[in-house]
Amino acid sequence: MRVSIAAVCLLALSAHAVDTGHVLRGYTPAHSATEIGWEQKFRDIPDPAHLRENMRRLSARPHHVGSPYDKDNAEWLLAQLQSYGLDAHIETFSTLFPTPKSRLLELLGPKPFTARLQEPALAIDPTSGQTAEQLPTYNAYSRDGDVTAPLVYVNYGRPEDYDTLDRMGVSVKGAIVIARYGMNWRGIKPKVAAEHGAIGCIIYSDPRDDGYFDGDVYPQGPMRPPEGAQRGSVMDIPNYPGDPQTPGVGAVEGVKLLPLDQVPTLTKIPVLPISYADATPLLQALAGPLVPEDWRGSLPFTYHAGPSTANVHLAVAFNWDRKPLYDVIVRIPGTKYPDQWIIRANHHDAWVNGAEDPVAGTSAELEEARVFGELLRQGWKPDRTIFYCFWDGEEPGFLGSTEWAEAHADELRRFAVAYFNSDTNDRGYLDASGSQSLENFMTGIAADITDPETHMSVGKRLRLVEISQASPQERASLRSGADIPLPALGSGSDWTVFLDHLGIASVNIGYDGEADQGIYHSIYDDFYWYTHFDDTNFTYGRALAQTAGTMVLRMADADILPFQFSDLAGTVHDYLADLKALAAKAQADARERDREINEGVDKALYDPKKPFMVPPPAEAVPPYLNFAPLDQASDDLTEAAKALDQAVSAANGTAPDEINLDIIRSERLLTDPQGLPGRPWYQHLLYAPGWYTGYDAKTIPGVREAIEAKKWDLANEQIVRVSTALEREAALLRQAAHTLPPAAE
Ligand SMILES: [Zn+2]
Repeated sequence: MRVSIAAVCLLALSAHAVDTGHVLRGYTPAHSATEIGWEQKFRDIPDPAHLRENMRRLSARPHHVGSPYDKDNAEWLLAQLQSYGLDAHIETFSTLFPTPKSRLLELLGPKPFTARLQEPALAIDPTSGQTAEQLPTYNAYSRDGDVTAPLVYVNYGRPEDYDTLDRMGVSVKGAIVIARYGMNWRGIKPKVAAEHGAIGCIIYSDPRDDGYFDGDVYPQGPMRPPEGAQRGSVMDIPNYPGDPQTPGVGAVEGVKLLPLDQVPTLTKIPVLPISYADATPLLQALAGPLVPEDWRGSLPFTYHAGPSTANVHLAVAFNWDRKPLYDVIVRIPGTKYPDQWIIRANHHDAWVNGAEDPVAGTSAELEEARVFGELLRQGWKPDRTIFYCFWDGEEPGFLGSTEWAEAHADELRRFAVAYFNSDTNDRGYLDASGSQSLENFMTGIAADITDPETHMSVGKRLRLVEISQASPQERASLRSGADIPLPALGSGSDWTVFLDHLGIASVNIGYDGEADQGIYHSIYDDFYWYTHFDDTNFTYGRALAQTAGTMVLRMADADILPFQFSDLAGTVHDYLADLKALAAKAQADARERDREINEGVDKALYDPKKPFMVPPPAEAVPPYLNFAPLDQASDDLTEAAKALDQAVSAANGTAPDEINLDIIRSERLLTDPQGLPGRPWYQHLLYAPGWYTGYDAKTIPGVREAIEAKKWDLANEQIVRVSTALEREAALLRQAAHTLPPAAE
């Protein structure tokens, strides 16, 4: 690489401007020096004692949607924010939020058993006994149902688990399935079960996944105790999140509601989550073949697939009420570009007391807002408008964020620069995911935050941790000093509407990796647990506040928005290679399978005393797909990104105003108003939560999911559609580069 004259000048200037010796990307050298000063001031202020007190207050009582303490917390947050001198208000919506009316789960037959469905209070844990305000263990948006049938064990309940059952000759048609938590998002489990003809779904927490297998159980240790159960939403979020009765529009006063019987995001069958204490007699009642080794959990008996000889009776009924949501919104007006918005958010509602999820994040966000109040008093003013949002109703299905963003969609599409989310927070490494146009930005941020345990930067620590886990090729890239990869966002928190529906560049951050936990969505996720087993001195809470605050400051004040597009282009190139490999593997697998059927491999393996008796069906070999348009678009994007990145680096922070408007549009152009096949609400063509994974992202989802579903014509159509979007993006980047003086060679 040749060093440009501009880069040499930039280094020389920066040596005078700041003693840290570097100029922030997108800043003039003088502005960079002032900015670094404000950022350092910001990072000095967050106080672990405040974070601890914020958590104690916000998690003191159960505060789910519609509860008295949910509203109380919103009002307390508002009062705190106003006391910091900030312009804050509460925005209210009303959404569908079912709560249990009755729950019954029993095993019939010779050894009858009735599930307890109750997490016991612990004397040592002062908030675990607030039973009058706790929501019982249930899965929100399960439909009502009363079913009696034999039971079948389906492992994690993924589509491939049903393929395995098929080969074992076990059918779930007309059965109730029992799936274990883990691997996919819980809402996928009843969805796939219903597709295979099951009539009910039980989800339990196996000790293998978050119980005694991984550590001592609560209160001796952090892991899930025998009667702990995981609440949670089973709404069909990969279809659309938010209020099930108002898809695509804000649930404001007077909005037209989709009738309940037409809502597509409720489950098709009744669902109930249970503890491993309650699951034990049910699993012991299973007959049928032994399950494969990787299906076995850690309970002390042999795992069979079923069906059970005795029937199981599952009956659930819910109050189908609409409940108020209280989003708390702060607006700090920008002085130079008031119509360019930076949005920072975390939710405040919880399933029960929710110290880890979400109050560890909410507490840090509130502390950031306090620090911004302090900086404003010291004379700092942001160039762009900053929003600090505290969402209600994340847990049931991103209700508060989705309804707010749908209600303000027109303004957000025009003005939003970036959305920065956090949710849970623990001890460990920086965990950031998001739009790859912000990969370089995040690498820069991570270099400026100090890890509280190792005292190296969180960026250096993350790079080293990733080196320890990476492939040889990835290791070389990490060691070369390339930007730290930002994995794609799937779903799982409030960024969904901003990124996937509106096309706003987004990043989700948190610290994790060092604190094991088995209290997720239970009554034990509370202040006592958090202050004994997680970030007990709140130094990672401080790191989260420092990280997010620095992100907001640096994005709000930049002369040229610090996006970088070569990382995006490189990632698209990698996604394309993945898609080609996926298509090639589908062909190779089908050819091999048909060959083995012809050779009689299944006959050779036949053992009437073992499972896997049923041979796989023959399959047509998939056709070749035409990836040429994507190859072309990917190369065009790479060229255009390189030209713009070089021009921005050479511009030294000085550029015409239009460049920022082009950069703001860059993520929007990756969306398509028609949305993804079969799910028009999801409009981003590069990222979506998988239809059958939920949490995990599917990249270039239109093409990838068509290949996975063996819909080859659809895959070819989607290739053209994504290519068109990437060509639009490349054209925008070329246009933006032309507004800048050409980079010196
Ligand atoms: Zn959360």
